[in-house]
Amino acid sequence: MPKSTYILFLSITIIVFTSCTGKQTSAHPTSEQPTIVKPTTQTEADTLTIAVVGDIMMGNTFPHNRLPAEDGKYIFEDAKDILTSADITCGNLEGTIATSGKPRKNLNSKMAFMFMMPPRYTQHLVDAGFDYVGLANNHIYDFFEEAMIQTEENLEKAGIGYSGAKDPKGINHHKELYTKEFTLPTGNKIKVGFCAFGHEDYSLRTRDTASVRRIIADSLQKQLNCQIVIVCFHGGREGAGARHLPYGSENFYGDERGFLRDFAHFAIDCGADIVYGHGPHVVRAVELYNNRFIAYSLGNFCTIGMGTSGLTGNAPLITIRTDINGNFIDGKIHSFLQQPMKGPKKDPSNSAAKEIASLTQTDIKDSKLIISQEGTITIK
Ligand SMILES: [Zn+2]
Repeated sequence: MPKSTYILFLSITIIVFTSCTGKQTSAHPTSEQPTIVKPTTQTEADTLTIAVVGDIMMGNTFPHNRLPAEDGKYIFEDAKDILTSADITCGNLEGTIATSGKPRKNLNSKMAFMFMMPPRYTQHLVDAGFDYVGLANNHIYDFFEEAMIQTEENLEKAGIGYSGAKDPKGINHHKELYTKEFTLPTGNKIKVGFCAFGHEDYSLRTRDTASVRRIIADSLQKQLNCQIVIVCFHGGREGAGARHLPYGSENFYGDERGFLRDFAHFAIDCGADIVYGHGPHVVRAVELYNNRFIAYSLGNFCTIGMGTSGLTGNAPLITIRTDINGNFIDGKIHSFLQQPMKGPKKDPSNSAAKEIASLTQTDIKDSKLIISQEGTITIK
């Protein structure tokens, strides 16, 4: 992008990113919208536990089979208790679940990773308790529209919510958002809305602030009356050198990969209650902003055949407890380490928790959170 355009883009971004402010800590009004009165049949005793993880790629059939041991039956085994006992469980589906489609990248290039998971593996997500997966990432279009649609059909059949993909040609309509009603431990019900943003033209984009505001504030909150809004995003540079959260926008091999601090804050100003990110393949800091929880990168969680060494092997699962208005109560970083071809395994040394604690200390100015070496997250 030429420098002059870049400066113009930055100025527009700053203006737009600041136009959703005015959020209170106990509800979701913004300065631009009428106050939204949420239906509150629930009591203050109601709390919600939300489990979030990063990239999931359960094995690849392209160009050759590279599948986990025992056909993946046990890839989530170590994390299953935590994943299934949360009220809401979400991740990022980093690839397609399909059987056909034309490869989009040049196979001879070393960077040409393309992922196609077998449809029977959708059941592994169901068994692990996933309610929702974001599709706004850089692999959902690896085999163009054909495999993207098959992925959505496979998730639909399995009853797993999804959103965030987009046809760059504008021919097919994909889900921008997803809503689901959950029963709280007290028996009360709560409506939860989900949406996902990435950095490619085949996904909804973090920098498309008009869409971010329209989906979160207008659709999920105002029209659909969601009491809790969960926002998934894919963004940031990749690799061990990308563990620190920068100020400003990020570029990776010529791709503009988001202005992530501002995006996360903007999403919350618009009404988001939990914002969880991934994309760098390593973990990043967490933040409490207006009493809402942000995870800037959860790294990899279950990426079969890749991302098992060094920092990319850290596979955190974060559980977040909120009240019915989305205010953060406390949380826990459960540390897992990926094992080659086997998925995430419990990590008694708590590497992921220690790394997130240390990055939060260096990268979040005046952090309002205390993170113990065991991963317990509390408010200061
Ligand atoms: Zn990615």
